[in-house]
Amino acid sequence: MSASPHYQTIAALAERLAQGELTSVELTQAVITRTQSVEGKVRAFNSRDEADALAQAKASDERRAAGKCLGVLDGIPIGLKDVIAVRDQPLTASSRMLRDFVSPYDATVTERLKMAGVVIWGRLNLDEFAMGSSTENSANAPTANPWDLSCVPGGSSGGSAAALAAGEAIATLGSDTGGSIRQPASLCGVVGLKPTYGLVSRYGLIAYASSLDQIGPFTRTVEDAAMVLQAIAGHDERDSTSFKIEIPDYRAALTVKRGPWKLGIPKEYFGEGLDPEVARAVEAAVKFYRDQGCEIVEVSLPHTQYCLDAYYVIATAEASSNLARFDGIRYGHRSAKAKDVVDLYFQSRAEGFGEEVKRRIILGTYVLSSGYYDAYYLRAQKVRTLIRQDFLNAYKQVDALITPTSPTAAFKIGAKADPLALYLCDIYTIGVNLAGLPAISVPCGFTGAGLPIGLQVIGQPFAEAELLAIAQAYERGHDWCNRHPEL
Ligand code: GLN
Repeated sequence: MSASPHYQTIAALAERLAQGELTSVELTQAVITRTQSVEGKVRAFNSRDEADALAQAKASDERRAAGKCLGVLDGIPIGLKDVIAVRDQPLTASSRMLRDFVSPYDATVTERLKMAGVVIWGRLNLDEFAMGSSTENSANAPTANPWDLSCVPGGSSGGSAAALAAGEAIATLGSDTGGSIRQPASLCGVVGLKPTYGLVSRYGLIAYASSLDQIGPFTRTVEDAAMVLQAIAGHDERDSTSFKIEIPDYRAALTVKRGPWKLGIPKEYFGEGLDPEVARAVEAAVKFYRDQGCEIVEVSLPHTQYCLDAYYVIATAEASSNLARFDGIRYGHRSAKAKDVVDLYFQSRAEGFGEEVKRRIILGTYVLSSGYYDAYYLRAQKVRTLIRQDFLNAYKQVDALITPTSPTAAFKIGAKADPLALYLCDIYTIGVNLAGLPAISVPCGFTGAGLPIGLQVIGQPFAEAELLAIAQAYERGHDWCNRHPEL
């Protein structure tokens, strides 16, 4: 028997399950035991149901014994960010507003994972309604970074990244509106993939900014990301923004020889604010690609400086509209103090939402208000078009772009009290969402203090197979993914 399974890859575990070396019940129990021993320090989970996970694992083992295995994910425990609906389980968005909410249905991604035989394992902490970059905006205690418990895991999918890095799941799902998969993946030393907008159904995802939100996997390796993406990608008639395209076999595509590629380095992504240790690690990665025969070209994305502004207009505008449904009547916390129905709306929302969520609703309502709509919202939409055009122009020259994922490694919990300082965490990830592109973060080294650094590869629309291959070419030349935090 090889080592404890909680740090193994899906690919390795699928093989062990197939060989009969391990059962899903043993694997799930190992993950539960690991979670029980480290969760007090990491605080990645909002809720988990051990009995339910073991029952799913048992069903998986029985299927396999009957010769009805559902594929490579059958029996693998995967955790979900607590904005992805799982039938009959709590769904809170880490908000007081939804503290007592139990989902009556499965999200499409949940349904697809279940169809693939996955053991759905727990719901993971996040910044309230996915608004933030550190998981400190959660109504629950902030999740800790497994590499340094005094640091943040990033956000908003901090629980998803930290649980994986701590060996509390074999893979997890998160959502990415402005960087919420890639940035925490980078800060926790795991792989995080944000698919092309429209590739993965958003049905059953609690909406933050619907034109930007996309669900994607956190995994230990690029190959594992391909395997999870395979299960969740594809058209869904319940999400009108989901595309009808043929889904390739992402894992098989990794076995085809590709490259060397022409890779673009956007010069705007290497300026002020980039930590020198992060810059050095990314430069070393660029050198690695060059040594592998890739052609490296400097490119320009001239509207990069407007990304943050456009994002915080568009995302807050959409959020103000999406979050209007939490009124204490149809959905969410209902105040006990209200005097009449109007007061009920006010009190319920005042009590239910946290500070950052309120700030964004107010901002979003303002930019949509009749006197300011043209000046802010409409303008931001035009800027968004220019930003997308920048990327498409760059792709006339290159196959993909290479950048840092985050300007810095993980910072101390409580260190960024000013909301604007936190907004700056996403300067390298937000453009991708505005342009609707796929991008992946892969581990690319550690700081002197032992904190992970992430490399971002940005691909062309719906070219996930190529993107994964480019990321894997880097991963194969390094062993970062075999390092684990001491907990
Ligand atoms: N940090 C960004 C925000 O707060 C992105 C969050 C996300 O991708 N969900 O909006």
